[in-house]
Amino acid sequence: SIVIPVYNEEENVPLLYRELKEVLENLPYDYEIIFVNDGSRDRTGEVLEEIAQKDEKVKVIEFARNYGQTSAMMAGMDFASGDVIITMDGDLQNDPKDIPKLLEKIREGYDVVSGWRKNRKDAAISRKLPSKIANWLIGKITGVRIHDYGCTLKSYRSDVIKRVRLYGELHRFIPALASTVTCVDKIIEIPVNHRPRRFG
Ligand code: UDP
Ligand code: MG
Repeated sequence: SIVIPVYNEEENVPLLYRELKEVLENLPYDYEIIFVNDGSRDRTGEVLEEIAQKDEKVKVIEFARNYGQTSAMMAGMDFASGDVIITMDGDLQNDPKDIPKLLEKIREGYDVVSGWRKNRKDAAISRKLPSKIANWLIGKITGVRIHDYGCTLKSYRSDVIKRVRLYGELHRFIPALASTVTCVDKIIEIPVNHRPRRFG
């Protein structure tokens, strides 16, 4: 199950959908793509509706208003029926081509596989520096030391992650929260591609 929260991503959704299909159709697994429309005020809802009408693998959850990325992610994860759940952003910053790598690690026996944007394409001072400090601090406090808490691209064994509840801004702490339902050596971080935001 691929879970994607989207808020005002009308230009990105069709492109992401196409990229995802290319990857998922070439994997030997059944799949579903769950878009959670987090109260978008642009045409994201209509664009998703159109896609879902033609493709039964695509499911759409509509929020009545904007609840934030964490709530959207949680709703998608609750709805997901796959043995493995993969979360990603809807703005094309994450690369669907990384999905096979994430799945491979789950097959190896890991419960949580977290993307590490080793070559992150965001502003240095306003985004990357605060993240660096936050990652260090969260690692220090929680004991789960990974480089990149903020990367949405992650894969999970469904039965493990469904025991974690997310609210507020907790999506930034998932690996630490996951350590309360599995052991730390079942959590791994792997480098993933990261792309600049083009639209929206
Ligand atoms: N998002 C959402 N609700 C919000 C804000 C963002 O569902 O209130 C989605 C957004 O559409 C994107 C993902 O969450 O798919 C990450 O958001 P963004 O790109 O703004 O975060 P960043 O990449 O800057 O961390
Ligand atoms: Mg983004």
